[in-house]
Amino acid sequence: MEDCVFCNIIAGKIPSEKVYEDENVLAFKDINPVAPVHILVIPKKHIDKIINVKDEDSYLIAEIFKAINKIAKEQNIDKDGFRVIANCGENGGQEVMHIHFHIIAGKKLGTKIC
Ligand code: 5GP
Ligand code: ZN
Repeated sequence: MEDCVFCNIIAGKIPSEKVYEDENVLAFKDINPVAPVHILVIPKKHIDKIINVKDEDSYLIAEIFKAINKIAKEQNIDKDGFRVIANCGENGGQEVMHIHFHIIAGKKLGTKIC
């Protein structure tokens, strides 16, 4: 998708600080971190919202969580812990319409979800 920020990051047209990449998944540092570690994990395939993941693409969600597992170990946040967040739609606060999972870590996070 030409007008999608994250597709442009995947294509290398917009620079990013990559932390992980494989055939299906890319992870890079959030441009506006809310914690010492704030990484976005995305599928290379453009899917706009988690509510629109088709059955045939559901393996990508498993691939994303496999990547999250590897990234957590590489970033040394596996022992102390981290939070994974996926926002969907307007009320969910989704700003970029290419599905993404936030990994947030590096400090003690609040216990309230919202
Ligand atoms: P959302 O609110 O959609 O769940 O999160 C979108 C996230 O993408 C935000 O945390 C925002 O800081 C991040 N973001 C938006 N544009 C860019 C960009 O061009 N580069 C990077 N690295 N992060 C971005
Ligand atoms: Zn996209």
